[in-house]
Amino acid sequence: MFKVDRRRMLKNLMLTAAAGASGGQLKPGKALGQQQSGRFKLALEDYQPRSMLHVPERRVLRARFPAIDFHTHLSWSTRRGSKNEVHNNATPAEVLPVMDRKNVRLMVNLTGGYSDVLQETIRYWQSPHPDRFIVFTEPWYEKIREPRYPQFQADQIAWAQKIGAKGLKILKTLGLYLREQITTGPLVKIDDPRFDLMWEAAGSLGMPVGIHISDPEAFFLPTDRFNERYEELSAHPDWSFHGKDFPSDRELQEARNRVIARHPRTQFVALHVGNSENLPYVSQLLDRYPNMHVEIGARIGELGRQPRQSAKFFDKYQDRIMFGTDAVPRGTDTPQQIFGDELYEIYYRFLETEDEYFDYAPAPKPPQGRWRIYGLGLSEKILRKVYSENAERLLKL
Ligand SMILES: [Zn+2]
Repeated sequence: MFKVDRRRMLKNLMLTAAAGASGGQLKPGKALGQQQSGRFKLALEDYQPRSMLHVPERRVLRARFPAIDFHTHLSWSTRRGSKNEVHNNATPAEVLPVMDRKNVRLMVNLTGGYSDVLQETIRYWQSPHPDRFIVFTEPWYEKIREPRYPQFQADQIAWAQKIGAKGLKILKTLGLYLREQITTGPLVKIDDPRFDLMWEAAGSLGMPVGIHISDPEAFFLPTDRFNERYEELSAHPDWSFHGKDFPSDRELQEARNRVIARHPRTQFVALHVGNSENLPYVSQLLDRYPNMHVEIGARIGELGRQPRQSAKFFDKYQDRIMFGTDAVPRGTDTPQQIFGDELYEIYYRFLETEDEYFDYAPAPKPPQGRWRIYGLGLSEKILRKVYSENAERLLKL
């Protein structure tokens, strides 16, 4: 009897305490969900636990060394009818003060598009501030059905360089969206020979290829209770590549590997660490392909929850890892990418401090999965390479 009463008493205390902790805004019955069969049910989306750890918190306001952000999306383009349009996510006047405050010396705007869009993007960002912004070009996929596409695409890369583009960007469009009739038909393979001249052109012109292939492994699995990115996939159901005619993550990775192997003179930067959940696999690839590099944008949530393995990875491949954030000005849809002071401070904290258990994104709830991260406390030598020296070398600055 005593036990039962005591339990009820404790439960009441817990309810009162929980209501108090939430500042009284949340009614116990509602926020804590319904009491069912003696247990509290709380909707996962309402759960926002706050860490009770007493651990050091360092705010790193500026990168220890001037940084090159190798992965940003300052602009993008859309196609309307037969015309492409540029969308700038911000103005240089908005972005430059943040860069100055955060010690970011240069940003690489990967999504520069092609043709007249590329020209406009370079004119807007790079030409007025050549030491602060550089722009990459992208393939002209709509032309893929034309018989002379391989040479046309290679010529476009040469033209892009002539007007100022510094590299080539491949979105995950290749492998997951681009189809034979652009939006219909079978998916075009990443190692389709029609792109061979394009990869070769980038290599012979000394333009690095920033390549995003596949996506987190969980995006290829059912969106169910076992999926570690359940909330992220629920918020963005179109990010799921489970089922339909999508290849597996591994098939996509291997097609990309064949491209890297086939074009040894071309420097490939596997964006998002290639596949950050599986560092042993990425390590094998880096050992196998001397022309492969990686960049860490939007993956500190992965690297930071395996800090010991990540620290070894940074140590071993310190000459081939590049700092990048995947920053999108006004990218409120993806909190882990919102360009601004807070985003950079989190990256710097991860790379420079040994702080424990902190948020990987400026958001009230971890947007990519329910975990927190640990800082790597990298040495000054490694920080210098990751922040800028490796990118300088690839970009020939
Ligand atoms: Zn990106």
